[in-house]
Amino acid sequence: MIKRKSNPHQYYHITISVAFLCFWTLATIHGYVAYGFVQASSYIVPSLVALGVGVLIGYLFTLRSAYQTTSEQFRAIADQAQEFIYLRQLDGQYEYVSPSCAVITGRTAEEFYNHPNLMDQLIHPDDLARWNSHVHRINERGENESFDLRLRSVDGRIKWISHICMPIYDEKGRQTGVRSTNLDITDRKEDEDKLRQASAIFMHVTEGVVITDANVKIIAVNQTFSDISGYSEVELLGKSPTIWRSEQQGESFYQEMWDTINTTRQWCGEVINRRKNGDLYPAWLSISGVVNDHGQITNYVSIISDTSNLKQSQERVEYLAHHDLLTGLPNRRLFGDRLEHALQRAHRNKTVVAILHIDLDNFKSINDGLGHPVGDKVLQVAADRLHLAVREEDTVARVAGDDFSIILEDITDSESVAHLANKILSAFATPFHVDNHELHVNISIGISLYPDDGDDVTSLIKNADAAMYQAKEKGKGCYCFYTQAMTNAALDRLTMENRLRKALSQDEFRLYYQPQYALNTGKLIGAEALIRWQNSELGLVSPDEFIPLTESTGLILPIGEWVLYEACRQAKSWQDEGYDLSRIGVNIAGQQVQHGNIVYTVNKVLEETGLDPTCLELEVTESFIMQQAEQAISTLQALRELGVALAIDDFGTGYSSLSYLKLLPINKLKVDRSFVKDIPNDKNSEAIVRAVIVLGKSLQLEVIAEGVETEEQEDFLKAEACDEVQGFYYSRPLPADEFERILVKANANDFSALSSSNL
Ligand code: C2E
Ligand code: MG
Ligand code: MG
Repeated sequence: MIKRKSNPHQYYHITISVAFLCFWTLATIHGYVAYGFVQASSYIVPSLVALGVGVLIGYLFTLRSAYQTTSEQFRAIADQAQEFIYLRQLDGQYEYVSPSCAVITGRTAEEFYNHPNLMDQLIHPDDLARWNSHVHRINERGENESFDLRLRSVDGRIKWISHICMPIYDEKGRQTGVRSTNLDITDRKEDEDKLRQASAIFMHVTEGVVITDANVKIIAVNQTFSDISGYSEVELLGKSPTIWRSEQQGESFYQEMWDTINTTRQWCGEVINRRKNGDLYPAWLSISGVVNDHGQITNYVSIISDTSNLKQSQERVEYLAHHDLLTGLPNRRLFGDRLEHALQRAHRNKTVVAILHIDLDNFKSINDGLGHPVGDKVLQVAADRLHLAVREEDTVARVAGDDFSIILEDITDSESVAHLANKILSAFATPFHVDNHELHVNISIGISLYPDDGDDVTSLIKNADAAMYQAKEKGKGCYCFYTQAMTNAALDRLTMENRLRKALSQDEFRLYYQPQYALNTGKLIGAEALIRWQNSELGLVSPDEFIPLTESTGLILPIGEWVLYEACRQAKSWQDEGYDLSRIGVNIAGQQVQHGNIVYTVNKVLEETGLDPTCLELEVTESFIMQQAEQAISTLQALRELGVALAIDDFGTGYSSLSYLKLLPINKLKVDRSFVKDIPNDKNSEAIVRAVIVLGKSLQLEVIAEGVETEEQEDFLKAEACDEVQGFYYSRPLPADEFERILVKANANDFSALSSSNL
């Protein structure tokens, strides 16, 4: 506890009063003793007066000393004070000026003493009016005042001071001057300015600003961020910024971001955030760690720019640079880029690319005759029709006025291109209806193919263009390949395709049957059904000539089903007639396994024909099985479960993987005839056939050799213990009625020698 020290001056008046009191008491006692009570009483009044005067004098002495003491203390304190303190008389004369005036005003105390009202000259002009009225008020009315104002120091710098001013009064209560303290608040004012500016920036900046504490909990967000994110500040305070993460960037992305911030205290990059309504938006994010004097991070400040508009405008610029505004199609530039990429892909994958160059035959007359607005609409309709005619992945571009180009990738054959060209031509067969005009717009199409007609963008475009002029010369409204041979081939195939489409309904297909024998016994054990096409113009067409076309057009599905049905029906019919035919082989195309719902079809056919499933053997080519092994396995498995047998046809040509062979639910390998044919001249072929037989045996599969034409071949196969044979040596494929003769013979002599069955 601090003990308050008593002031010695306060005892002066008591001492003097006591002295007078003693003097009065002594005088009174002396009066009693010397003159008796009555006379002594006459001393009382003057004595009391003397006592009062004593007390008063004592008191005045005390006051004066006290005043002197207070004034010294004040000076002592004021001399040490940081504030600039002054006492000024009403006439402006400075009575006291504290030394800190030099620091704050740049003027010495001397200058103040020598120049009354020096303060007035130091006031900043903008604050002068206020100062003058303040001086007036305090001098006239003696009111306490305090306010901030600016001074100009000697070096021209502006100082902010907090000015407090109080009137001073004399003992009689009259104002004699003022007492003022002036604190330099320049730094505070500057800080306040900076804060105000920072706050204005924070609130009005066009970027979103988010401030978190060291634990990454949000402590402030600005309005822009609320506008961007859709969250109000209240919704975000205390939350973690993960609230607007989109999960588009994995955890590792954010981990790396924080690693960078923690080491460098800064990170910037692109992020995908989620707005409150769930929409995603791209943003440019910059995060800085704010550190205190001890180097510890106290806050994180994130600046977030919503770049979705920027991206959109970039995309728009990009779009405009690469598209034709009238039709919305890619322009020549984008067409060139896409073709370049298509050629690179085709080069890598060894595939074919087609370029179709299309020109509107009579566009100029439409444009000249009906005006450009109609011409523009015709181009738009043309663009729509072209777009509708091709696949989604194909590129249709408007490369010049009435010139369009199309890129077709992964072309399997020129027929499919010709097919598309026909499709486009028929899309333009319907008249255009534009502004009440019915317009017949014909087109000519020129086609070039990579790699046959050129291996770079320029030559392929040039050649497609040349082909287009050829089409025009041919009378317009048609298409032309760059080479005539290709045009002819495509035309032939198209004719064929059209005929094939009718063949099924016109009952032009036939099945031929080729017998198959057990090699060790010579017994007829089955037949392979082989399709033929009997066409009035083309004659008897072999399957090699039309099966590939039925596969590329999808016609194989109905045709394959017909074959299956007809073969089973015929076999069952022979069995019912008492012929010993224990198996009928039917070739199945890969497409039937992939898309044809083959399990259902086989089951249905077996039910409808009544053929025992064990009498049906389906032949699937090795090349298909190896391309589609994984997908095919379950379908083949389901077929096996129906009870039918499965053989791999053309074995040895399809690069079988042994691991797959083991997994496949098959019964038989058919050695391809290309190997059998060269026996005994080619040792390699012999070795392959031998190896296939060994392989089949080791996998517990039967092996049949097809294409056996000679006795030597038969001898070789016998020596290698091949199970079965099939070939011209025994019989060519025969129509049903002729095959019946073989059945008759087989029935007559079950155990006849193989050579005797040779027709
Ligand atoms: P493939 O399944 O390997 O049929 C055997 C082919 O070899 C048949 O030709 C047959 O006539 C022929 N051939 C048989 N023995 C000999 C011989 O000793 N020497 C010679 N040079 N050839 C012989 P084809 O009938 O022309 O059939 C060719 C291919 O067409 C078949 O080969 C098969 O892949 C396919 N095919 C035939 N019919 C059908 C069918 O109905 N559906 C499917 N998807 N493909 C079929
Ligand atoms: Mg076959
Ligand atoms: Mg074969």
